[in-house]
Amino acid sequence: ESKAEGRGRLKSFQPAMLHARQLRNQLVNELKEAIAGNQLVLFYQPIVRLDTREIEGVEALVRWNHPTRGMVMPDEFIPIAEETGLISELGGWVLCTAVEQLQRWRNDPLTAHHNFNMRINVSAADLQRLEFVEDVRDALSTAKLDPTLLVLELTESAVIQGNDLDRYTLSSLERLGVGMEIDDFGTGYSSIDYLRRLPVHAVKVDRSLLSALGSDPAQPALLAAVLQLIRACGLGAVWEGIETEDQARYLLGIGCTSGQGYYFSRPLSEEVLTEQLRHHKTWPVAD
Ligand code: C2E
Ligand code: MG
Ligand code: MG
Ligand code: MG
Repeated sequence: ESKAEGRGRLKSFQPAMLHARQLRNQLVNELKEAIAGNQLVLFYQPIVRLDTREIEGVEALVRWNHPTRGMVMPDEFIPIAEETGLISELGGWVLCTAVEQLQRWRNDPLTAHHNFNMRINVSAADLQRLEFVEDVRDALSTAKLDPTLLVLELTESAVIQGNDLDRYTLSSLERLGVGMEIDDFGTGYSSIDYLRRLPVHAVKVDRSLLSALGSDPAQPALLAAVLQLIRACGLGAVWEGIETEDQARYLLGIGCTSGQGYYFSRPLSEEVLTEQLRHHKTWPVAD
């Protein structure tokens, strides 16, 4: 009778599953239209030098300005874009838009004195595309930007697969001269071996490591050890999720140089960040 029970349960789940599948299909179709129809927008979050508090980079973070649902966050649609292959179109749009925006900031006499780079998030699927390196090279040369001004953020899971195509793409990108960084360090399968092997220049430490600071007595020692490990591998470190002045001071105290988080700035629209760049030298901006 357990079989019957199982069948019954399955049946009762079906309407919900059907509904979920319909919703998903609808979302996929809408996302296609969104990419073609200018509904995606990039927000930019400053990455700040912890000693001088000057801006040293911005991370481009995509949002979907949905006609009826409002601003949809990337965690809700990036996974779907990855599963359905839409990510290559989306990633291409992000790349071009971010690079053009950096060029505008560098060409605007009111913002050009800040010397900062552009970070974009790259998905595992991008590294599997042979044309990805071409796309990056084209975007940079169209915008007449030095490749070192672009930094690709790669998640651990994206680079750790480590198949031939990945390796080929990563070494081509290295030759091209763009910066590469491991994102969300400390959440995945962090291994010392791949930190040393991959052609990356820095790691971005996941904010979960910082959020335990203050509550967990072991956390300060752990953060210092993580920093030492990164240094010993010859890499730079960017700290994510800085939400308080105390955290920023603490990190500076143990020798960290770069950080990002709501304390310095939330991700901002192009217009808002442009205004800030015109009127401020350090972050957080005083209002
Ligand atoms: P991520 O690359 O690790 O980006 C950092 C996320 O942490 C962003 O969320 C940012 O808004 C958030 N954050 C920054 N500072 C703080 C802080 O102090 N406290 C807290 N609690 N959060 C903070 P967001 O914009 O929702 O993006 C989520 C993820 O979506 C990103 O994580 C990235 O993996 C992915 N993503 C965003 N844009 C793109 C894109 O253009 N392409 C791809 N492939 N993935 C993207
Ligand atoms: Mg990132
Ligand atoms: Mg991250
Ligand atoms: Mg993340």
